[in-house]
Amino acid sequence: DDARLAEELRRMDGSSYGRYKSLTGDWTFPDFTLTVERVQSDPFAPPSRVAVRIPADVVELPDDAWHAPVRRRATADYLVRRAYRELKGARLRIDAGGQEVLDRAACQIRDGEVHLRLGIEMPGHGRRIDGRTAESELCERLPAMVDALRWPELDAAEATAFADTVEDTCALRDQLEGMELVAFVADGAVLPRRSGVSDLPMQGSAVPFRSPESLRVSVDLPHAGTVTGLGIAEGITLIVGGGFHGKSTLLHALERGVYDHVPGDGRELVVSRPDAVKIRAEEGRQVARTDISAFVRNLPTGAETADFSTENASGSTSQAANIAEALEAGSHTLLIDEDTTATNLMIRDARMQRLVHGDREPLTPFVDLVRPLRRDHGISTVLVMGGSGDYFDVADQVIMLDGYRPYDVTDRARELASERTDAEFTAPADRVIDARSVDATARGKSRLKRRDMDVLTFGENDIDVRSLTQLVDPGQIIGVGLAMRRLAEDGLLSRRTLAEALDALEERLGEDGVTALGRGYAGDYVLPRRYEIAAALNRLRSLRVQG
Ligand code: ADP
Ligand code: MG
Repeated sequence: DDARLAEELRRMDGSSYGRYKSLTGDWTFPDFTLTVERVQSDPFAPPSRVAVRIPADVVELPDDAWHAPVRRRATADYLVRRAYRELKGARLRIDAGGQEVLDRAACQIRDGEVHLRLGIEMPGHGRRIDGRTAESELCERLPAMVDALRWPELDAAEATAFADTVEDTCALRDQLEGMELVAFVADGAVLPRRSGVSDLPMQGSAVPFRSPESLRVSVDLPHAGTVTGLGIAEGITLIVGGGFHGKSTLLHALERGVYDHVPGDGRELVVSRPDAVKIRAEEGRQVARTDISAFVRNLPTGAETADFSTENASGSTSQAANIAEALEAGSHTLLIDEDTTATNLMIRDARMQRLVHGDREPLTPFVDLVRPLRRDHGISTVLVMGGSGDYFDVADQVIMLDGYRPYDVTDRARELASERTDAEFTAPADRVIDARSVDATARGKSRLKRRDMDVLTFGENDIDVRSLTQLVDPGQIIGVGLAMRRLAEDGLLSRRTLAEALDALEERLGEDGVTALGRGYAGDYVLPRRYEIAAALNRLRSLRVQG
């Protein structure tokens, strides 16, 4: 049959490009099945899509590489990276991802079989078929790639180490709750990145992480054995230190700590609770009936802040909405960096309080809410704040970074603290989303697209996702769109609060993981978290809330 494909491609050479369409369907190779799923109609259209199924007795994956779900995801991720390397310079493309090990549609292992999804720009001379190049891609490069993925052919030690690393990361993250920690940063970890646009580890001059003794905890991992590092306890953690001493770098690592990292990344043993959400100000975002009354009351416009909507939020109201919505989606762990906050929502010092009296100031600063959040709602906060000592009054622990080294300065900060009267925090009201306002269709057809890491086009709406810094892979943006579509089309939003709808979605994904999102979607996509799904929904301009 593969000989038939080669022959067919040779015969097509020079004929009009549209004839490629006739390739659609299954082609049996000696070692695998190729399915041509979607063929581009001209050379300038998005690449064609093919799927490859390699049977278990060909790949020969050992049980240990895929039986456990965590190792299955890791091995799939290893294979997709291996395939990517093998396809360097080819027209065939596979979505291999960056530093995070995610559940991606491009490679899945099912019952020991390997399922790959690839794109290919079908070659042409102008609008004529270039059959010879097509033949070399599909009948030479593709089988060579499949061959390279067979366990006996690949570096089994490297593949096993990859899965071991991911398994250790997951075991570590799973232990956080039992140890009453929200995050852990291993000694020896490398947190800084190569540059603002490269997620690779900084080389050479990076100062490896080293925990202060008083905050050092030790954990036992299945492969790495006993590991020590900084344990960030539940409660209120303040990270202080001079400018350029590594505060934001640490917080960024914690943001990413909800994901697993590839061996050699430096952050393999830097983990946070899976529900950790980065909170920031986001001037200009839209808000649809979110309860921000805990933070904002008596706006000069008279707007009802328990049911607050705007097309254009201010810095402080956007940040208040971001907190309320993260809590609504189920987060119990907030990560905040002074670099990206609205100062007036974070602090108000004594002099300002004397000048602008309580009834003139609609904002209740976060510093007055962070303790009630913890005490009454079990919400932990990790906060970077180098510019104000106000949070000394409320912090459970204070970590100072000095020359990229953390020190425990809790006692010293406590000596400098003053009495502070807390405000009260009432949990934001749960919302029920009107499913009809979440519509993925445009002109009768489903439309999901992304522009870089900036915009998700969902039906007729463009959703600005630039502030969602925990979306780390382009494929997750499509994953978010697919998840929103499922929430709406499967009726999961009906008669459920948003949080319940997200629970129902997670339940449906179950063991199948990311592929349960796709349902006929031809392109690449990656599993997102519920918090990013909720965040994108909240930024959908057509969103309507019931009641
Ligand atoms: P801060 O938030 O305290 O002002 P940043 O976290 O932005 O500081 O870090 C300042 C600079 O130091 C960045 O360029 C960052 O890459 C670098 N850096 C951070 N941590 C380390 C480290 N452990 N080793 C070397 N350089 C680091
Ligand atoms: Mg900073």
